[in-house]
Amino acid sequence: MDTQRLYYNDSYLCTFEATVLSCTPAKNGYAVVLDKTAFFPEGGGQPADSGTLGCAEVVDVHEKDGIITHFTNAPLQAGSTVTGALNWARRFDHMQQHTGEHILSGIVNSLYGWDNVGFHMGADVVTVDFSGPMDSAALAKAEQLANQAVYAAAPVCVSYPTARQLQAMQYRSKKEIAGQVRIVTVGTSDKCACCGTHTATAAEVGIIKILSAQNYKGGVRITMVSGGRAFADYCLKTAQANEISAALSVKPNQLTAAFTRLKEETAALKMQLAAVQTNLFAKTAALLGTKDANVCLFEDNLSPDDLRRLCLLVAQGRSGVSAVFSGSDTAGYKYALASESLDILSFGKSFHAACSGRGGGKPPLLQGSCTATKAQIEQYFAALQPI
Ligand SMILES: [Zn+2]
Repeated sequence: MDTQRLYYNDSYLCTFEATVLSCTPAKNGYAVVLDKTAFFPEGGGQPADSGTLGCAEVVDVHEKDGIITHFTNAPLQAGSTVTGALNWARRFDHMQQHTGEHILSGIVNSLYGWDNVGFHMGADVVTVDFSGPMDSAALAKAEQLANQAVYAAAPVCVSYPTARQLQAMQYRSKKEIAGQVRIVTVGTSDKCACCGTHTATAAEVGIIKILSAQNYKGGVRITMVSGGRAFADYCLKTAQANEISAALSVKPNQLTAAFTRLKEETAALKMQLAAVQTNLFAKTAALLGTKDANVCLFEDNLSPDDLRRLCLLVAQGRSGVSAVFSGSDTAGYKYALASESLDILSFGKSFHAACSGRGGGKPPLLQGSCTATKAQIEQYFAALQPI
């Protein structure tokens, strides 16, 4: 016999008594079947409820062929009466997310004719796939009307129409349903076949917010949050905006302009820094004097690209090997080696062997890193044959 679904008639029922019909060992615990339950089993995009049955914790709930199975961490006595208690905060959150999704989907359907063809309630956000394209203005309009439906506080009604009544009814449905159809109506915003749990009125959804949208399979995939999740998201974003606006000394509504300005300033400074550095590198190379000697330079805080630029400048017109290092004895050194006249690849091999280095490149430049100390590297270059 099918499990009696107490949540069908009362989604606010969070404690109930039921008879244990069976309890069998299952993966990581026990599978418990009751004669009736308020626990919603995973389905239709809505996750399962959690809570307790007596002293046992309910970690998951599934439904198959009308039978609802509770997966628990402790056994229950078959034939006994047990008290079930839902994790109400989790359930109410699911009710808010689910009802918010109904309202928005119903409004998108009546505004643009698109269907909700995919629904997933994740731990953080709800994902909905709509069957046709909508730009940001179209989504903003649907979102605004959805929130107006919340303010209108229409009741959410459940009905079980006859086959004939159903035939004459306009309602949303994701699939063909065999047997009795359960219709959930939210005022004039939505009418949908659904077996999930919903709030009693649209007002309890609180707020409906679309967080993101992207084109997906010819339609749009959105992420959205409702109720408590939307409030938590608002709190987080307000805190972040306040923190950034205090740091930038601008009002929260001027953050985008301030960020654009900051980005432009950073780009200008980078260009300025690169020009100063190029100048400095040219002077450093000029100060090295005679062009017929090997050079081994150590410079602080140079990036691999800085090393390359400086090394090539030093090597210009020089007959020996030019080497530039940046780093420390403890962290190791990044290097650039260049020569316009010598076989830099075979030089690199002996350098790697002597100074525990590795790297690569093509003439006239090699780049890489080594773990030898500054003293060891200087010793190696001092011992090279004079040019
Ligand atoms: Zn629903």
